[in-house]
Amino acid sequence: MKVPILLPNIFNHPFTYNSDLKLKEGDYVIVPFGKSEITGVVWNEFEKKNNKNFIIKKVLKKLDVPSLNKNTIKFLNWFSEYNMIPKGIALKLLLLSNNVVEKISSEIYEQFKITIKKNKIELTKEQNDCLKKMNISNQKFRVHVLQGTTGSGKTMVYFEALKEIISKGLQGLILLPEIGLTGQFQNKFIDFFGFKPAVWHSGITKKNKEIIWSGIVNNKIKVVIGARSSLFLPFKKLGMIIVDEEHDQSYKQDEGAIYNARDMAISRASFENIPINLITAVPSIETYDNIKKAKYSISKLNKRYLNASLPNYKIINLNNSKLEKQSWISKEIIKEVKTHLEKKDQVLFFLNRRGFSPHVLCKKCFNSYSCPNCSINLVYHKNKQILLCHYCGYKTLVKRDCIKEGKCDFIFSGPGVERISEEVKKIFPTKDTIIFSSDTMNKKSSSEILQKIINNKIQILVGTQLISKGFHFPNLNCIVVVDIDLSSQGHDLRGAEKNLQLYHQLSGRAGRTGKPATVYFQTYNLDTKMISDITNKNPDLFLDKEIEIRKKNNLPPFERFIALIITGNNEIDLEKIAFKFKDLIQKSLEAKVLGPVNAPIFRLKRKFRVRLLVRGNKSLKVQNSLARIISKFKFPSGMKLTVDVDPINFN
Ligand SMILES: [Zn+2]
Ligand SMILES: [Zn+2]
Repeated sequence: MKVPILLPNIFNHPFTYNSDLKLKEGDYVIVPFGKSEITGVVWNEFEKKNNKNFIIKKVLKKLDVPSLNKNTIKFLNWFSEYNMIPKGIALKLLLLSNNVVEKISSEIYEQFKITIKKNKIELTKEQNDCLKKMNISNQKFRVHVLQGTTGSGKTMVYFEALKEIISKGLQGLILLPEIGLTGQFQNKFIDFFGFKPAVWHSGITKKNKEIIWSGIVNNKIKVVIGARSSLFLPFKKLGMIIVDEEHDQSYKQDEGAIYNARDMAISRASFENIPINLITAVPSIETYDNIKKAKYSISKLNKRYLNASLPNYKIINLNNSKLEKQSWISKEIIKEVKTHLEKKDQVLFFLNRRGFSPHVLCKKCFNSYSCPNCSINLVYHKNKQILLCHYCGYKTLVKRDCIKEGKCDFIFSGPGVERISEEVKKIFPTKDTIIFSSDTMNKKSSSEILQKIINNKIQILVGTQLISKGFHFPNLNCIVVVDIDLSSQGHDLRGAEKNLQLYHQLSGRAGRTGKPATVYFQTYNLDTKMISDITNKNPDLFLDKEIEIRKKNNLPPFERFIALIITGNNEIDLEKIAFKFKDLIQKSLEAKVLGPVNAPIFRLKRKFRVRLLVRGNKSLKVQNSLARIISKFKFPSGMKLTVDVDPINFN
């Protein structure tokens, strides 16, 4: 019998094998390939137009693992077509380092055993209404959006919904945007359900991954809390997907296989024919558009926990309250912060910049420090005494021979969180201050620091956007946005939406236990419309306006964008090839092709980069035709094409 077998490699089609074994779609097998033996899956169709004359090899072995669901196979096929990723690479996302896990002793799964506890937590009337709306339809595919102010108890509502699914013997998946959150979240889960969920992200050990993979495939693990990659686990009986913080742009995987985990979760739910819930305080533009078109249903939580009100906003005009030289905190802010500290409020200074200073240059020769691999400035990290490239990780000491004479004499221009923290310590020397950024919080000690913040042992935080990601700090009642003007720079089509999300999430960290809270914005800009837009208590007003702008300019979600990034070692060859490639696309594709232009970060990790942008309608036809064209075009060696469907970053 001939069977089609998909292998986890760069090919976009299954290979044909012979077999005496009884095999069915979805079975995991071992087959010979070249000189090695590899794991593959019996696929649902043979390679199309295969007229090659190969000797057909034989399947070596059928593996003792429950077969992959037909619906998951369909999902992977669609995933590959939509994102223009070879089918083999899509399968790779589902396997464990190209392998599967056969039997694992069942004692290990005792720890995940479900014993749903009776709950003491009573839902409020508002929460109950939301739950009812969420459960109204049957267990088939539908998208429901639960929109609730930060701190309104959205989690409890979807936990209840999930409880019903688990008690029917089905599995549930909760997607979170940030690995750092899984710890705090896992405890919340155990408090509610009384059993342990499996936690899945790139940081867990290989052994743990094996246990979870096998537990999922055998339906011994009921709930997974995971980052993007958990979407590709081979669930045996998936019954519901929840995407928490659905608006979060870190759902976009930007390297390797490029895809948007939120969008792919919706598509997986549709193929598995199960319900999916998107959870957010302010929906993304894409989701909001689907709510308006009544493709998604919605329920809303308007009241915050303990009836806490959202923080007040205050704009500090730096034109009136002048800053001293080498200082970024105004006298007016110092006065306000003092009052908050006296009331035992915790204070956060927010600046979305890691390190001490983003720009280091010499007073004598005026040469900046930039990365030798990327066309970007190196950032000075004073705590580590190094200059660091945030894109490729290049580091160097702050020491350079000057082309004028002797050593360079450096000026540090502009602040990062380390510099603000230094200033804060000078102003409030008796207070405990910490920096909250990926440099300080991705370590083993970070859960200890979190606990200290929660217990109000630390009075002042200086943080980057990492702090906006769903952390719960009960005493935080004052936020100072050090430089709001920084946020209005840049030419990103999603710039306005990103700001709305960031500042909404950020203010959501404040005033969570009912005490009055204030967010202060320092600005030089006399036109403060942007600030009032992003701080409006009704974000729908902003979203409506933003949708109009997108519609008028044919921007996503009204048109499909596909970014094509070509990288190479030689600037001139790269440009030539990019124009040739564009010509070919334009001849055979019914879509607009813009570019080529140099990427904003023209050189990255030693490669030059140019970008093309395809703008077409929203049918899969664009991807299909484009894939055909790409397969015909031969890039010279050393040049590489990356395809990004629905791009979010335009770096
Ligand atoms: Zn670099
Ligand atoms: Zn110099």
